[in-house]
Amino acid sequence: MIRSEVIGNWKMNLDHVEGIHLTQQIGVLLRANPHDHVDVVLAPPAIDLRSVSSVVEADRLPLLLAGQHVSEFDRGAYTGEISVSMYKRLGVTSILVGHSERRAFFAMTDEVVAATALTVLRGGLRPVICVGESAEVRSAEQHEEFVAEQVAIATATIGQQNFALAYEPVWAIGTGETASVEQVARMAAVIREALPETARATTPILYGGSVKPENAHELASGGNVNGFLVGGASLVAEQFVEIVSTASDCYGRSR
Ligand code: PEP
Repeated sequence: MIRSEVIGNWKMNLDHVEGIHLTQQIGVLLRANPHDHVDVVLAPPAIDLRSVSSVVEADRLPLLLAGQHVSEFDRGAYTGEISVSMYKRLGVTSILVGHSERRAFFAMTDEVVAATALTVLRGGLRPVICVGESAEVRSAEQHEEFVAEQVAIATATIGQQNFALAYEPVWAIGTGETASVEQVARMAAVIREALPETARATTPILYGGSVKPENAHELASGGNVNGFLVGGASLVAEQFVEIVSTASDCYGRSR
């Protein structure tokens, strides 16, 4: 049985003071809203993590922490980079690898994504590998092959270890345009098929791309995925927790 999860990706928003505030707000709302059937994960900017993790610990909040990006190298002369062990020391359990913004703006290739995911696993954390096609690839009807290839390149390097996949069509990220429930369900099936056979039953597949309280129910109940990676809506405590509790309700019913 795959445990469902909702990850909030704050991207490059909120300094550590604002991060403390949002974490506290989320904590208060989580106490009042059922969320038993999902893990709730925050991915703040790396520089906020120490403060956010202090709040999580001090207030005993039911929150896990994720990194947004990590170096593919273990340590050394890589100015500006952050290593897996640094995240681990802060209590982080998962790291996003190959978010489409990293791929598009920082030239992260499929090979670097695979190498980074392996570094994360070697360091004892779980990579959440992001895949997804651009609008051009989808209009050329190449999206299934494209995403299956992204998955295959990553798994050829990491095998069947403990990882998650996030299907995030680039055209749906931060645009307000969500993939339809049929599109999500179809791609989830394509991704599962592209996984090594032994990883199919155990690997969580998340959906990300303009997930909002309004579409969370439909996507959680019909999308054939195990949760969400949420960007914009994760910056508003009420919206994020509504998504979390909607997902928990849907996943609780389908058990
Ligand atoms: C994301 O950043 O991974 C994301 C899915 O963003 P948004 O929810 O804003 O589309």
